[in-house]
Amino acid sequence: MPGVQLVLRSARVVTPEGTRAASVSVADGRITEVGPYDARVPDGAQLVDAGDDAVLPGLVDTHVHVNDPGRTEWEGFTTATRAAAAGGITTLLDMPLNSLPPTTTVPHLRTKQETAYAQVHVDTGFWGGAIPGNVADLRPLHEAGVFGFKCFLSPSGVEEFPELGPAELESALTEIAGLGGLLIVHAEDPGRLASAPQSGGPAYAGFLASRPRAAENDAVDRLVGLARKLDARVHVLHLSSGDALPVIARARREGVALTVETCPHFLTLSAEEVPDGATEFKCCPPIRERANQDALWQGLADGTVDCVVSDHSPCTAELKDGDFGTAWGGISSLQLGLPAVWTEARRRGHTLDDVVRWMSSGPARLAGLDGRKGAVAPGHDADFALLAPEESFTVDPARLHHRNPVTAYAGRTLHGVVRATWLRGQKIAEDGRPLRRTGRLIERTGHPGAGGYPGSAERPAATGPGRPGRTERIERPTA
Ligand SMILES: [Zn+2]
Repeated sequence: MPGVQLVLRSARVVTPEGTRAASVSVADGRITEVGPYDARVPDGAQLVDAGDDAVLPGLVDTHVHVNDPGRTEWEGFTTATRAAAAGGITTLLDMPLNSLPPTTTVPHLRTKQETAYAQVHVDTGFWGGAIPGNVADLRPLHEAGVFGFKCFLSPSGVEEFPELGPAELESALTEIAGLGGLLIVHAEDPGRLASAPQSGGPAYAGFLASRPRAAENDAVDRLVGLARKLDARVHVLHLSSGDALPVIARARREGVALTVETCPHFLTLSAEEVPDGATEFKCCPPIRERANQDALWQGLADGTVDCVVSDHSPCTAELKDGDFGTAWGGISSLQLGLPAVWTEARRRGHTLDDVVRWMSSGPARLAGLDGRKGAVAPGHDADFALLAPEESFTVDPARLHHRNPVTAYAGRTLHGVVRATWLRGQKIAEDGRPLRRTGRLIERTGHPGAGGYPGSAERPAATGPGRPGRTERIERPTA
């Protein structure tokens, strides 16, 4: 047992058993003990007194489009992970599309890892992609450590990542279920989208009508049926339609292995307030009406919705051109997700424990990282977000670290100031400024024949043990 190097003390530590005054002891980047507030600090250990700031487990954001390499003018690993660190996120998983190449083969995954490893400020892993014709690539990708596979049922917006037709979906899911893997799905039905009124121009109402709730509802129905039939694990990405929740809740009660996420923008922004031409609010599925937002909050409250993750999907400012027909769809909120969600959560009577369940432990469990990430508990990585929950700030795009700081939150007043972020026992951001870069590339484990990071035996000296950017396999505890 290594000696304790750090003791982090606060009147409000959010633990799996609730929020209480506590001292968190850290050795070699891991939490060794969550003890009494006034516990003796061992000789040689650094004491950090967070005072009244709440200590949360670092957030786990399983839905981030980094776009690197290939569309680095949209976003990159350095800028995205700096924004994450500033926003209290300590682990992120990169989506397989919008980068060139997309993460649809093992060589493509290796290209992504080679690009990322020297850049990451937070721990970073990768989803694979399921596209037409790559069923044979799914097992090798799984064994190379991707966390699961993303697919679309309708056009993705980029031609190198086509959607799966019904037969392709079934064969991909059959393969993934056989691997014990997870399929994560952009769930909008292509037929419903094709028959909806097509959108163009600056009016938000037209765009909203072009992505009806029925498209999501039908897609969810289909996924429930397929998950049940194939005994497969399926995760619904960025649920916007509250109408789909009863079907999801029923399927889960019946034992279907279905999980669901929603996003800060669906929980905090509403269609009624989107100004015409404000394409920084465009995403797919879309931000819907206030009444729908209440249904999503109800889904969080009753446990039907498992996670709240950013779906950070930036682009250049020119691609947000004011026309809802042609603008790129995506909202950038990596740095703002925690205060955005907390602002509305506290208004609705939720606690920080709830927010941690939705934004840290829930996503960690989805990715199979529980046991190591997503909790202030012994054995977990010493990843923390220090939050001043009662303080507020006004969103200034100039203070955002992602590459193109276009944001739907500009000018809003939010509650919850992220004071500092710690990754494996080291402070990586303070008062919105990223500090040292100590992120690592991570892989799903517990699988046979893990490939590991390319050249893990002959890794460049600059990424050796204890240096930035090294790859680490996170072992799951045996249940
Ligand atoms: Zn996305």
